[in-house]
Amino acid sequence: MSSSAIDVALPEMLARYEPVIGLEVHVQLATATKIFCGCPTSFAAPPNTNVCPVCLGLPGALPVLNRTAVELAIKAAFALDCTVRPESRFARKNYFYPDLPKGYQISQYDEPLAERGSVTIHIADEVKRIGITRIHVEDDAGKSIHEGFRDSDRYSYVDLNRSGTPLIEIVSEPEMRSSAEAYAYVTEVKQILQFLEVSTCDMEKGHLRCDANVSVRPRGQEKLGTKAEVKNLNSFRFLKQALDYEIARQIALIESGGRVVQETRLYNPDTGETAAMRSKEHAHDYRYFPEPDLEPLRLNAKWLAEIRSSMPELPSARRHRFVGEYGLREYDADVLTQNRALSEYFETAAKISGDPKTTANWVMGDLLGMLKAEGREISTSPVPAENLGGLVKVLAAGEISGKLAKEIFPKMFATGRPAAVIIEQEGLRQMSDAGALEKIIADVVSANPKQVEQYRGGKTTVLNYLVGQVMKATRGQANVALVTDLLKQKLGDVC
Ligand code: ADP
Ligand code: ZN
Ligand code: MG
Repeated sequence: MSSSAIDVALPEMLARYEPVIGLEVHVQLATATKIFCGCPTSFAAPPNTNVCPVCLGLPGALPVLNRTAVELAIKAAFALDCTVRPESRFARKNYFYPDLPKGYQISQYDEPLAERGSVTIHIADEVKRIGITRIHVEDDAGKSIHEGFRDSDRYSYVDLNRSGTPLIEIVSEPEMRSSAEAYAYVTEVKQILQFLEVSTCDMEKGHLRCDANVSVRPRGQEKLGTKAEVKNLNSFRFLKQALDYEIARQIALIESGGRVVQETRLYNPDTGETAAMRSKEHAHDYRYFPEPDLEPLRLNAKWLAEIRSSMPELPSARRHRFVGEYGLREYDADVLTQNRALSEYFETAAKISGDPKTTANWVMGDLLGMLKAEGREISTSPVPAENLGGLVKVLAAGEISGKLAKEIFPKMFATGRPAAVIIEQEGLRQMSDAGALEKIIADVVSANPKQVEQYRGGKTTVLNYLVGQVMKATRGQANVALVTDLLKQKLGDVC
């Protein structure tokens, strides 16, 4: 079945079949060093330079658990509402692969770090809780490189820099019912982990990887169908496309009298299709056994309490607070809590400006627009939050016009200077001096006898034109309300 045929056929198929999805999300923990040795985790180092006997899997080298990795994993577990086990255990998951020099992955099996959590997702107007089965800690393998070398048609290369990088695997319950729910789930998990600074969750760098387990069943049937596991979903778009393809494939297969077989399938982003990769291995294939070189992981209550109390406000709580405390619209609160740096930027600026709604508009409009145009992130904004707050403050106080603010902001962006400095240097302060304005108004009135006559004849809309003339003469610096008042007075006087 081609992927374009799916778009047509899927809605009709879904009337009769219900998709069931469970996700396994692997997240790289944001530690400086690897999980069982002191090698750096830095990305893009020359191949096989961040390695030592432990992460090369040399015989006799012993692992030492990275405390920070455990701390980050615990934070993730708390944020995802899991119960953290006071004692968990590492296990060897044995398999052969060229990028796995030890011949096993150190993971956790029947005693994982944390269990029974949940994530709340929002789909249209519906709020849904997706259960998390478990979170366990494990090390990453190295990387096989099959392309990009002159002799790639004959050889593959292995880079072990990634070997031993700390990961958590977050396993969901099979509780998602559409690709949209799966998308929302991963989005929410990603946002939470980024807020906590547990992981950068940068999918391009493979810091967040997702495998999707998919089955379908006739609507109304309780029993779950046979699932396939889809791998290679390294972007949100691919996740959604692969799921829609796989759901339609399974339904079409069943409808035509076939049976879904339990297998691992690979998503091909070029065709938008999934293809069988291997029959599904079972837990017993891995010969799991307790890792003899590591003690059971015992977590004392005091440390757990310290970690819990150090947790930052989570995105959903912050969203609610922005609506309640600052009166933002839900949509704006959503945008402004997309990442932690942005939400903190907004809040700092809003406190200084004293006008949260206007601040929100400036952050989401002018600031994000200009950052995007330059391909920059909020964390490297040339306008610090304090400066944007300062601009909105003088704007809200009526010291400068909106038009002037729009002229000042790009200068702040270009120079990094605060609004006050630019206003002072360029003599941009709003003219609110009635004496100076009266002179300009007198000039405008005598230069426009026809419009003045029309106004006096009852065509009051002409006033806007005359106000415009004054604004032009003051290069937009006059206080519009004051100009309007003075003009009315002036024109009234002569009557
Ligand atoms: P396995 O033993 O094949 O690894 P698990 O029971 O460990 O299977 O589940 C792995 C993932 O597959 C979990 O995210 C789970 O929610 C999901 N899952 C299990 N059964 C199904 C099913 N029938 N359909 C869709 N997803 C499923
Ligand atoms: Zn090492
Ligand atoms: Mg499993």
